[in-house]
Amino acid sequence: MNYNKDISIIIPLYNEAESLPELCKWIEQSLQGKGLDYEIIMIDDGSNDKSWDTIKELKNTFSQIKAIRFRRNYGKSAALYKGFEMAEGAIVITMDADLQDSPEEILELRRMILENDYDLVSGWKLNRQDNALTKNLPSKLYNATARLVTGIKLHDMNCGLKAYKNEVVKSIEVYGEMHRYIPYLAKNAGYSNIGEKLVAHQKRKYGVSKFGINRFINGALDLISLWFLSTFAKKPMHFFGFSGILMFLIGFCVSVYLIAEKLYKQCINEYFRPVTEQPLFYIALVSIILGVMLFLSGFLAELISRSSQERNKYNIKDEIK
Ligand code: UDP
Ligand code: MG
Repeated sequence: MNYNKDISIIIPLYNEAESLPELCKWIEQSLQGKGLDYEIIMIDDGSNDKSWDTIKELKNTFSQIKAIRFRRNYGKSAALYKGFEMAEGAIVITMDADLQDSPEEILELRRMILENDYDLVSGWKLNRQDNALTKNLPSKLYNATARLVTGIKLHDMNCGLKAYKNEVVKSIEVYGEMHRYIPYLAKNAGYSNIGEKLVAHQKRKYGVSKFGINRFINGALDLISLWFLSTFAKKPMHFFGFSGILMFLIGFCVSVYLIAEKLYKQCINEYFRPVTEQPLFYIALVSIILGVMLFLSGFLAELISRSSQERNKYNIKDEIK
């Protein structure tokens, strides 16, 4: 494949006006004299400060800038998605706008992809310059869980600074708040050669962090959704059908046992409790109903996945004609 540029640098930004001029200078200093043709793609995610005016001004000095501005704040994933769509470079870099990520890492990240044939290289902020209690500690826990669920051995899955082969970003669809799991999306799309590089990290110089503590709850829920999608999206009945049958059988067997026990005791004139006076009977009933519901959900899920546009989408690696 021939690409128009060597590198696309994608920068999602939301109210980061003060940082942008320094960021552009820093990128230029890091890449000048290397003979590389690069573009800086800025996605203004509905900022309500002076970010857009700043970008327009910067365009006069930095002709590499391409930018779009969302009408409202859609979130970092949406901004990245749009940037991925626009990227024309052979290597695509994503980085935050807040000067916490160093553009000096770009060249080495690019080299790792070109020479070591990685599909994706993720940054690892070992010396993270954020609040220890609200960010660093929960982040360790989050990454350990993500490693376990995704099977990708990254220490810092959500690092904003990453590098990709162009075809990787064109093959994945980031949405919702899935930007936290891009390596997992890439792996599920067949790009599993994922590398990691220790990167420098700076304290936030201007503005405030856009993500609060609730990101860990949302992040955990998204991880469960992604795991479910990657495992069962194309065969939902395997999940719903199995758990439905299991619940139904448990309920059914318990009910049959309770009724049989009652009838038996009645026959031999022993003391018996009516079935409807036994709590276990009601639990068994609930289990039967849940089983049927799960099974029906499986049918519905099959109908949905049958009409999904993704149902026969495969990423081709090579072809012989
Ligand atoms: N960001 C964005 N849209 C949002 C929230 C954040 O484009 O709705 C951008 C933000 O401007 C920054 C990057 O995503 O460039 C990372 O955000 P932030 O620095 O607040 O995250 P943190 O470093 O605190 O995890
Ligand atoms: Mg930041």
